[in-house]
Amino acid sequence: MLGYVRKNISEVEYHTWFAPVRPLGVQQGSLVLGVRNSFAQEWFRKHYLELLEDALRSMGAQSPQVSFQVLPAVQDAMILPQDPPPRSPSSSNGRSSPERGERGSIPQGVTDSRKALNPKYIFENFVVGPNNNLAHAAALAVAESPGKAYNPLFIYGDVGLGKTHLMHAVGHYMAERYPDKRIEYVSTESFTNDLINAIRDDKMTQFRNRYRSVDLLLVDDIQFLAGKERTQEEFFHTFNALYENHKQIILSSDRPPKDIQTLEGRLRSRFEWGLITDIQSPEFETRVAILKMNAEHHRMNIPQEVLELIARQVTSNIRELEGALMRVVAFASLNNVPFSRAVAAKALSNVFAPQEVKVEMADVLRAVAGHYNIPPDAIRGSGRVREVVVPRQMAMYLIRELTGHSLPEIGGFFGRDHSTVMHAVQKVTEQLGRDSELTEAAAFLKRRLQGLEGDDS
Ligand code: ADP
Ligand code: MG
Repeated sequence: MLGYVRKNISEVEYHTWFAPVRPLGVQQGSLVLGVRNSFAQEWFRKHYLELLEDALRSMGAQSPQVSFQVLPAVQDAMILPQDPPPRSPSSSNGRSSPERGERGSIPQGVTDSRKALNPKYIFENFVVGPNNNLAHAAALAVAESPGKAYNPLFIYGDVGLGKTHLMHAVGHYMAERYPDKRIEYVSTESFTNDLINAIRDDKMTQFRNRYRSVDLLLVDDIQFLAGKERTQEEFFHTFNALYENHKQIILSSDRPPKDIQTLEGRLRSRFEWGLITDIQSPEFETRVAILKMNAEHHRMNIPQEVLELIARQVTSNIRELEGALMRVVAFASLNNVPFSRAVAAKALSNVFAPQEVKVEMADVLRAVAGHYNIPPDAIRGSGRVREVVVPRQMAMYLIRELTGHSLPEIGGFFGRDHSTVMHAVQKVTEQLGRDSELTEAAAFLKRRLQGLEGDDS
């Protein structure tokens, strides 16, 4: 069937879309295809349904039907058209698990080995920026001295910012160096389900053995413990057993422990024993770096200005950032056009609203001058004293973050060359998260320039 498809579309298109697809079987007379994420699912429905039905007809099907299902194991994976097909869940731990596709269920219990770790979530694939450098450093420290550096390590942040990626990275790091160590990655939901099953099947001893005999326990999305008393109780004992034996625990959550409602006090205080670190939304430069890495994985040569355009459209969630890149790649390949800003803008136009507030360089200059209480001309002038250098760097940084101007254009506005601008942007970026005054000024000015904060001066 894929042969038929291949003959009818371009090679790039085939590799982008069809190479990673997995036939999952026939369900109520309909062919079920496994796709990598919900974006691909939508894309297939829109663009390839007829082609696939034709393909089935060419094989003699009378009234062909095709449906799509997102493959859970690779839902988060980066977009790699040349990826090998994901491994099947039933082979991952030797136990028989329900067939994937049956009632659309995600197989439970595929958690008790390092095989549950996503192979792409390694330190080498993690782009470090001011938004995540503390969490990254802490994860690395824990990976290097498990049970000794920080225990537990608690990583929190909004969805799609890399918490799961960092946890898996620690798992891979340890697995590689200490092949005999036991590593357990589990979502809080799976932990809860395992507990419920263990109670039902009278297998609490096995449950406890499993979770209390590991060297590294990674528990994802621990905020879901909220309100689950029995699970909290069991997790409390698991925690203590591991902690007393100096086994490393890493927890992730969408919020800090103090904000998890209905979490028992004794658990909350334990979560605070080690190190609590957060991940924020990535800065523009970090977003571009992440896109660049993704593009390189694709072996796609996408011009910098196109990556920058995408990075400007999607600002808060890295999964969406990757989705946007995928959309641009798909759009260009389907229309057989080279990557350009115009093509990228078109590809993203019906997904992301154009930037609401258009910020001009002069607006930024004015706002920065007002904030630091110095004349705009002094910022653009040649003075080198700290009082003007800091605001100048801030202005360059904000223009880079908030407007579509290139480094040479910004340089031109300040009567300087692009390398000066690049240096200024780097300088400010490095100081973010370290210099609190500068961090606050940057955040405040950004909000004001984007119209999120009133002008009260
Ligand atoms: P979370 O668990 O915080 O919701 P994930 O760890 O699932 O987020 O990350 C979402 C996606 O973004 C994943 O594909 C992940 O690889 C990618 N990602 C997140 N942070 C980074 C980063 N710093 N560098 C590269 N990719 C990242
Ligand atoms: Mg996650």
